Amino acid sequence: MKQTANKRQLAKLIQQVERLAPADKPLNIMEVCGAHTMAIGKSGLRQLLPDNIRLLSGPGCPVCVIHDCEIEVYLELARHRNVIIATFGDLLRVPGKKGSSLADARGQGAKVSVVYSTLDALKLAKKNPGKEVVFLGAGFETTAPTVAMSVIQAQEEGIENFSVYSLHKLVPPALEALLLDKEVKIDGFILPGHVSTIIGVEPYYFLAREYHKAGVITGFETHDILQGLVMLLEQIREDNPYVEIQYRRGVLPQGIPLARQVTARVFEPADAWWRGLGLIPKSGLRIRESFRNYDANKKFNIPEPYPNEKEESNKNCACGDILKGIKLPQECRLFGRACTPLNPVGPCMVSSEGACAAYYRFTEFGGG
Ligand code: SF4
Ligand code: SF4
Repeated sequence: MKQTANKRQLAKLIQQVERLAPADKPLNIMEVCGAHTMAIGKSGLRQLLPDNIRLLSGPGCPVCVIHDCEIEVYLELARHRNVIIATFGDLLRVPGKKGSSLADARGQGAKVSVVYSTLDALKLAKKNPGKEVVFLGAGFETTAPTVAMSVIQAQEEGIENFSVYSLHKLVPPALEALLLDKEVKIDGFILPGHVSTIIGVEPYYFLAREYHKAGVITGFETHDILQGLVMLLEQIREDNPYVEIQYRRGVLPQGIPLARQVTARVFEPADAWWRGLGLIPKSGLRIRESFRNYDANKKFNIPEPYPNEKEESNKNCACGDILKGIKLPQECRLFGRACTPLNPVGPCMVSSEGACAAYYRFTEFGGG
């Protein structure tokens, strides 16, 4: 189907969804990726779908899933006199355990520089030979190859004052953690488009094989999402879950092996903390021993594994439950009152891909 569909095509897809939606039970469909959450909000799809199709946002915004104990580590790094933190803008306002963020640290004199690419971070290191530039590498399988390239480049150019604090996370282990959580009820997944461009389809096969769950890798236009839903509902109706690709113009079944090779040259899987989901085995990436000079964990002796801090900062913030699909943003008592995009309390309101920000901007519950 072409990139944009006309109203008649969209209406037809909605009819198909209505026809396939079971009359007798509600279905929980999780859109894993933050960009899907935004696209669904913007299109008003939630309001157009039958009541028994519940779209839940998942742990697919790389900023939202950063755990408090990781935030504490980089806030501590920012306090070093000799350190310049290089970060993408979204991380700037994410509050840590005591409510302060990198932006606050900057206000108190920490050197925090917003960069637009890893190349900018390398340039910053070259310009400041007397300082250590620590790049905050946040993101999923999509971002990791670029960050890996920056480490390779730093090594090749002999840039010694550059390191990465890896906050990278991997999507498939998080989906498995969700399915193992007894509180979580999901019937099928709208799987992320960009992540899948890199990893392809195979890493999701366990969803159907081991958990009998449907999954469709889906694009970001409204018609993509509707078509993905139709494919999911067909699988569920036939009780024949498998993993298929709706987003064929963006995703090859094998993904991009070269990008995965670059990532694997620099990083290896490691246990990682996720907001809401806790410590998930092999769900993060740490820098390999052969690149240890570029690993902020090694340079600054950051203890590993992280402190056993299961408690999260603001107990009234429901981000953890929202990322698991247990609560909707409007079910958080702070939503739209104490917590707004201008005055965010939790990361799901800070991030442009966060569920709370999307609901605030695009639903009747928000004021946006
Ligand atoms: S990087 Fe792309 S696929 Fe991943 S969460 Fe962001 S928008 Fe979704
Ligand atoms: S509305 Fe704010 S406080 Fe509530 S869950 Fe979302 S980000 Fe957290």
